[in-house]
Amino acid sequence: MLRITLPLPRQVTPAPTISRVAIIGGGFTGATLARLLALHGQYWPHEIVVFEPRAHLGGGLAYDTDDPSLRLNVAAHRMRAVPGDPQAFLRWLSDSGRLGQDPGAVAKGAIYARRGDFAAFMAGQVQPFIDNGTVRHLRERAERIHRRHGRWQIEGDVGAMVQADAVVVATGHPPPTPPAELASHLNGDPRFLLNPSQPDALQAIRANDKVVVVGAGLTALDVVAALRNGGHRAEITLLSRTGQLPQPQAAGDFAPHGDFLIGVPNTALSLLKQVRFALEEVTEAGLPWQSVFDALRHQGQAIWRALPFLEQQRVLRHLRRRFEAHRFRMPPQIAELVERERAAGRLRSCAGRVAAVRSGRAEIAIDIATKPYGTVERHAGQWVIVVTGPDHGNVIDSQGCFAELEGLGFLTKDPHGLGIACDPDSRALARDGHPVEHLFVAGPLARGAFGELTGVPEIAAQAERIVQQILGMSSATTRTITIRSM
Ligand SMILES: Cc1cc2nc3c(=O)[nH]c(=O)nc-3n(C[C@H](O)[C@H](O)[C@H](O)COP(=O)(O)OP(=O)(O)OC[C@H]3O[C@@H](n4cnc5c(N)ncnc54)[C@H](O)[C@@H]3O)c2cc1C
Repeated sequence: MLRITLPLPRQVTPAPTISRVAIIGGGFTGATLARLLALHGQYWPHEIVVFEPRAHLGGGLAYDTDDPSLRLNVAAHRMRAVPGDPQAFLRWLSDSGRLGQDPGAVAKGAIYARRGDFAAFMAGQVQPFIDNGTVRHLRERAERIHRRHGRWQIEGDVGAMVQADAVVVATGHPPPTPPAELASHLNGDPRFLLNPSQPDALQAIRANDKVVVVGAGLTALDVVAALRNGGHRAEITLLSRTGQLPQPQAAGDFAPHGDFLIGVPNTALSLLKQVRFALEEVTEAGLPWQSVFDALRHQGQAIWRALPFLEQQRVLRHLRRRFEAHRFRMPPQIAELVERERAAGRLRSCAGRVAAVRSGRAEIAIDIATKPYGTVERHAGQWVIVVTGPDHGNVIDSQGCFAELEGLGFLTKDPHGLGIACDPDSRALARDGHPVEHLFVAGPLARGAFGELTGVPEIAAQAERIVQQILGMSSATTRTITIRSM
């Protein structure tokens, strides 16, 4: 039978402009997007749907914990979580009584709140909009996202099916990929823990079990704090390539120092020179070096934009590790714990590469070719915990819904391996390099385009810009024409 598609409009319908937005992921980024969209209620008669399997919006991987030993890495007054109201969290801490219930919060003259308290604050920010029906929280993982008749269709893992005009991907930090040598020997071994932030993940570890932690960043120190808080007493060894632990926060309040936007550096080397110069200046002035890294963070997006692609790669290759150890700093409470544990000989760190792994009945032994001399050291423990940091380069393959979108040409990997490629307006870049209509990438996954996009203030600012775009599209007065085929 001959089927002919008539090139004439049979039916003219009002535009399906942005009447529904689906947000994939309801951590800090997703919750902020939902709240900001909902705040424009007068213009927004339809739903904002958030796919998030966790019980509450706003916590995400970073803050969804009730472990009181896990604290924010940044002082409460610097969190600036709510656009237009930078002190909202600080005020809430005291008004809600949470600060009064947390005697260990104040250290070095600032408040380092419990992470769970920040999650409760964020949940409270979005709850009124869930209560009035503007925001719908679907407790499901998005499993499939595809295009149908000009709209996005999102399918959840528990059966939800949502049609939306715009989708914002806000799934945050993907899981780490363990070093191949470890994975090939230990995958499937119950003593090999890949997801220590999951509730009860550390519960089976007994007080006298020795633990080897692979990774030495802030998440590794979280593991140390959580274990000690749970009564663990035995030796913990941190293995990493450089052996460098995050630096501590400085005492007191100080302004960021250094203007990297005058004569913006356009090579990795000129950036390094400017940083060294600023560090000399603060040393002479008796200011903390942390002030220079705060300035770098504040100006980070403009610095990143000014660097050509190859220089961005050089920054990542040569400066990233050192930068991150100084940029992502440990709160004073954790710094004290680390000092105490090291002095007692119960916390050690070792720099090098995994050379061999032997998995015995009683212990797992890991041989490390140490830096700088290449001698081999053996570290053994009853447990091996991997905290090598999120594998942002693998994010598309880590989720079926992204792999499918990539297959259809709607998503591409960021060429630096930092997440998902997007343009300066946060629109996902298609396989052909063009921005995809109504598909946005929010939060740390968009770092390749922005450089600095990990901390709360920067994410909140990006969410605000995405919301402005979506609202702008919603008020568009275009019309679409539906053409039916016979
Ligand atoms: C342990 C930790 C501590 C941190 N501490 C600080 C701090 O003190 N200060 C600061 O400024 N920054 C901190 N950060 C940085 C952090 O990146 C941001 O603050 C921010 O929380 C990132 O939020 P997010 O929502 O993008 O990601 P996440 O917190 O990773 O949340 C993403 C959410 O997406 C959900 N999700 C994933 N896949 C799907 C799917 N397919 N369908 C539905 N939902 C999905 C997950 O369940 C998760 O809840 C910290 C980060 C970490 C990891």
